Amino acid sequence: MPRRIIAARRVFSLLLFCLASLILSPTTQAQSPGNGLTLENGDAAAAYGIVSVLGVADHPTFRKWQLDLLLNSTEPAFLAFGEDPIPSPGLLSTLDTSLYPDGEHQLRLRVVHSNLNYDEYFLPIHIANQSGGGENPATPPQPAQTAPQPATVPTPVPASAPAPAAAMARTLTGNGLSVVAQGDSLSVRGVANHPTFRKWQIDLLLNGDPNQAVFLGVGEERVTAERELLTLSPADYPPGSQQLRLRVVYGRLDYDEYLTPLAIGSGGMGVSTLSATTRSRLVTRGPGAGKAVYLTFDDGPHFRYTPQILEVLAEYDAKATFFVVGRSAQNQGELIKKMYDAGHAIGNHSWNHSKLGSADWDTFEKEVEGTEQVLGGYGSHCLRPPYGDVGPNLLANADTAGYSLIYWTVDPLDWLNQNPETIASRVLTKVQPGSIVLLHDGGDNRTGTIEALGTILATLSAEGYTFPALCR
Ligand SMILES: [Zn+2]
Repeated sequence: MPRRIIAARRVFSLLLFCLASLILSPTTQAQSPGNGLTLENGDAAAAYGIVSVLGVADHPTFRKWQLDLLLNSTEPAFLAFGEDPIPSPGLLSTLDTSLYPDGEHQLRLRVVHSNLNYDEYFLPIHIANQSGGGENPATPPQPAQTAPQPATVPTPVPASAPAPAAAMARTLTGNGLSVVAQGDSLSVRGVANHPTFRKWQIDLLLNGDPNQAVFLGVGEERVTAERELLTLSPADYPPGSQQLRLRVVYGRLDYDEYLTPLAIGSGGMGVSTLSATTRSRLVTRGPGAGKAVYLTFDDGPHFRYTPQILEVLAEYDAKATFFVVGRSAQNQGELIKKMYDAGHAIGNHSWNHSKLGSADWDTFEKEVEGTEQVLGGYGSHCLRPPYGDVGPNLLANADTAGYSLIYWTVDPLDWLNQNPETIASRVLTKVQPGSIVLLHDGGDNRTGTIEALGTILATLSAEGYTFPALCR
């Protein structure tokens, strides 16, 4: 990413912080803001690009909140939900307007009480992708997190009559690439989008070196939903720890970059058959002896879902590796101990779920060592890079700190599609001895993953697979 973009974002963040400090001065903080919605970096009267939806969702018998976009004020599209009350304005979800048609829509927040009654709060939003353009301070889209942020005080809207239940569909919003083996070739799939999109370009960086870039392909149309962008034959390239680089070019030829590790073996094979530890300690696969499959769970620990996952694992005598986020682990020492005592391994997934690919040493140290301290003797020197973001800085910093970077072989995208059958079949069709499987126990509703896990373990156990922990 060009330096001036980073600088611009820093300035923007600083401005936001100053603005939030002003707005959240003691006078306004003393008032308890009511439930409701507001937009942070977008205009509800003409929204385009990536906008942040902020809200307050609280109740004496709070059970959960759910946010939907009602298309034309009728057809609900699920955006996010959470099980923790949000008593002061916090980020509920990001909204990529380019995924929805232009027109008059409504954002709907439901605050569900313990008796399953709920209140609803609406924010009319006019999506105007066609007339949108120009400067947009949004950051690249990422899977929605529910971390609270400073924000303006929302305007409460009175509740109205209950509407039919929302459809639980979800759409991919993040730029990036994924690689799927197809016989002897690899299918490179991806999303490449921006409010002022111009083109995407994919290069293969030999040994991760930007000076050894091999051009693979280019396209001039927005890719708003994941699809195949190109195929490549690994036999055409030298063995080594390569990287695929996606550039999303926008505006006046600025661009964002997304790197995806691609290990090419001496046999010219692709990701899923490939070698373990490399010079850069990037592990994409474990030892396959004894038909071992390595289950990994990211973004926890979660007080509700992680114990449920532990129960399913115990049923099949399966061990797993949990890559925990420090800020979630800090108050759940008993759960961490329970995970460890059950024979599972615990790895590091940074403190704030931050991108570390190009982070400097100070940031790396704060993010990784903070979590290490919380985990104490239960932790390990295994790091799963948040968002799969790997770059030369992370490779060097992990090496200095003695951390192995644990990537994965099979990604069923359980954060994107929470249908248990889809998750299970994506794992079962791709898994091989030695595969590292990426699943999630935190960050969102994980009931789909938990149900899929039962199917995955039942099927693979019957086929003679075993489930050891990595990093222990
Ligand atoms: Zn994660």
